[in-house]
Amino acid sequence: SREAVFMSRQNTALSVEEVREALVGVLGESRVLQDPGRLEAHSGDWSEAKRVRPSLVICPRTPQEVASALAVCSRLGQQVVVQGGLTGLAGGATPCNGEIALSLARLNAVEDLDEVAGTVRVQAGVVLEELQQWVEKRDWTFPLDLGARGSCHVGGNAATNAGGNRVIRFGTMRERVLGLEVALPDGRLLSMLNRVTKNTTGIDLKHLFIGSEGTLGVITRLDLKLSPKPTSSSTALCALPSFEAATQLVRDLQRALPALSAFEVMWSDYLAAATQITSLRRPFEEDHPVYVLIETLGADDLADREALERALGQALDSGLVADVIVAQSVEDSRRLWTYREAVGELLGALKPFAAFDVGIPMSRMQEFVEQVGRDLRQLFPDQKHLFFGHIGDGNLHVLSGPHSANGSLHEIEKMVYLATERAGGCISAEHGIGVVKKEFLPHSRTGEELDAMRSLKLLFDPANILNAGRVFDAA
Ligand code: FAD
Repeated sequence: SREAVFMSRQNTALSVEEVREALVGVLGESRVLQDPGRLEAHSGDWSEAKRVRPSLVICPRTPQEVASALAVCSRLGQQVVVQGGLTGLAGGATPCNGEIALSLARLNAVEDLDEVAGTVRVQAGVVLEELQQWVEKRDWTFPLDLGARGSCHVGGNAATNAGGNRVIRFGTMRERVLGLEVALPDGRLLSMLNRVTKNTTGIDLKHLFIGSEGTLGVITRLDLKLSPKPTSSSTALCALPSFEAATQLVRDLQRALPALSAFEVMWSDYLAAATQITSLRRPFEEDHPVYVLIETLGADDLADREALERALGQALDSGLVADVIVAQSVEDSRRLWTYREAVGELLGALKPFAAFDVGIPMSRMQEFVEQVGRDLRQLFPDQKHLFFGHIGDGNLHVLSGPHSANGSLHEIEKMVYLATERAGGCISAEHGIGVVKKEFLPHSRTGEELDAMRSLKLLFDPANILNAGRVFDAA
């Protein structure tokens, strides 16, 4: 039976030295690392999953080397955790005992730009921000954007189907990936590389690997769709009387401003905490229940700014917006984004934290925020409970901490995920499941769906060596 297949394949019985020798045989000494500093640097991601040093770190330099290393691991029954930029918030890249870490950091070349079609072929370990800057110099833009841009890899972005700040205009990573190359656990290199937008040649296998968090294969190369580089950008921060006003405002702005690229909501407690931690001054004299950061990306500076000001003027007149700051310079715009991007510093300050990235239908969002906020404040009056998110696409973040006892983190998770299920939402809109949300996946997926995931795992990774125990248990 399938269960028996998985049960019979535990992690390797060989010593670390024996595994190391076999890997050195295909990668060479310099790509198989064992010094304590290196092991420590690869012992965890940004989540609250317990840090564990891998027994070795391997850093292949080519897709073929990734495949060859996996073939060795499959043969030896050695379990492997895949690591991109380690900015994940779900613990998927954090090693479990006895695993070796496969880092994509040295697979970091931008291979080829098709300037006519606007596509780029990159290796998986390219850092998102480096790709953004590389294509911008060549008059294109790669519009996926998130706070972790300076460290996360495009391979990691595909593995988690990352979202971020501009999904309302440009979609998630899934919508930017035209093709993929994946090293399978048995050592085969599966090419699904493809540079055309429309392609109906049978089952589109790449979608199995996008968002599957390294459970089925290691992404080694990607063909990505670019967009023409915008030449104008406008930013505004609005103070709103209620969340209801925000739901109306996003609808109005989507109609009035085709260039709308971000609509980020921050509830008042979040903005207060962000103001404190960044030492920025409060943006408005008075406090307001909800704030919205708006960005447009277009092609005509003056016309775009006028269109934004006109739309926000109407919102002020109708009472949807109580106050507004429109950035007058790049510097201003950066400062307004700092409030939203303070989340990196807040994550550090609120450790140990419970962090959520749930998807909630817009029609249920305010009720959800009120109920969960009330429950959290009642149960944990001494902690901060901050609500914010990419609300333009129904993605709400909740950050709660610091919590001293592990038990309370678990209690909060149970409470929030149950409320999420009741609201008809999903427990992860962009960060993925990893290990920290695995227990709660049945809140969002049926037993049949989980069975289908296990069947795919068995097909691609029968020895269960790759990211074992992430997202779901193989058996
Ligand atoms: P890692 O953390 O290294 O890995 C994540 C998962 O993908 C792991 O399961 C790993 O095994 C797997 N993986 C990594 N590379 C590969 C590969 N090449 N092949 C197969 N599997 C692989 N996420 C968002 O979606 N939107 C946001 O707005 C956002 N904001 C963030 C802000 C901050 C401050 C931080 C710290 C994180 C944020 N994140 C956000 C989460 C994180 O940045 C994303 O999930 C990102 O896509 C992870 O990429 P990574 O390269 O760091 O992956």
